Amino acid sequence: MPLDLSGDEALAVLRWYVDQGFDETIGEEPVDRFALPAQAATPATSPVPSPAATPASGSVAGQAPIAAPAVLRPPAAPARAPVPLESPQLVEDAREVARRANTIAELEEAVRAFEGCALKRTAKNTVFADGIATAPVMIVGEAPGADEDRMGKPFVGVSGQLLDRMFAAISMSRERNLYITNILFWRPPGNRTPTLAEQATCLAFTRRHIELVRPKVVVLAGGTAVKAVLETTEGITRIRGKWATLRLDDGSEVPALPTFHPAYLLRTPASKRQSWWDLLALDKKLRELGISPGDA
Ligand code: URA
Repeated sequence: MPLDLSGDEALAVLRWYVDQGFDETIGEEPVDRFALPAQAATPATSPVPSPAATPASGSVAGQAPIAAPAVLRPPAAPARAPVPLESPQLVEDAREVARRANTIAELEEAVRAFEGCALKRTAKNTVFADGIATAPVMIVGEAPGADEDRMGKPFVGVSGQLLDRMFAAISMSRERNLYITNILFWRPPGNRTPTLAEQATCLAFTRRHIELVRPKVVVLAGGTAVKAVLETTEGITRIRGKWATLRLDDGSEVPALPTFHPAYLLRTPASKRQSWWDLLALDKKLRELGISPGDA
């Protein structure tokens, strides 16, 4: 049954998809999903697959994959009020607080004291960072999962263990030459993908965090971190492995490497090959910068 949408309605549906994390079409040929038999349709109670099952997201330490439903049926109208793109005052407050921090310790204190992100109310712990603050490489992931929330450290669950093994292959570890954080400091309930408003608020601190650490290279793990930090809508499958330049508010620039999130690699082991290429690209870049990962 063809959809009879006005231009504005079609735009609202498209915007809704983008807000949910769908930003790429997949497949060479268009598929008319509405021509499929009715029993294949998605139940009305779950109109979309969780973005956690796509490579554009990877919030979930150790979370089981969520299968995409066979048919994706766009709603005739948005089911609920769209998430605001940002809460300007909260974001401005966060920027102001972050700007005032002159050391990593001051920033950590400011994050722990910040009450402007609702995620803090449901989280057990603030998860700030782990590793060596003078490391040449700073990894930025998405958000703490259950293990990280319990232990108060980023990437300590199963996806973190994979991350550790991957970087060990190029002689890097959080004990010697890695510093690790996330774009969010608090676990989203149920490991859901953080809303754009939550991301925008915490990102003010994360950008300052990068300025204060001054790494030689930033590695962005997963589509959500890539989109937030690089302010791009490009999907992770297209952008991974391509060096970008991250421009910070203090005028500094850092090379940034988008790569798959380890939680995605746990669900899609065939993609580990591309992640290995990304690690080799990182190793090469560090050597060009005069850093030998084994010695750093
Ligand atoms: N996934 C993330 O993005 N970060 C963590 O710290 C753990 C899982």
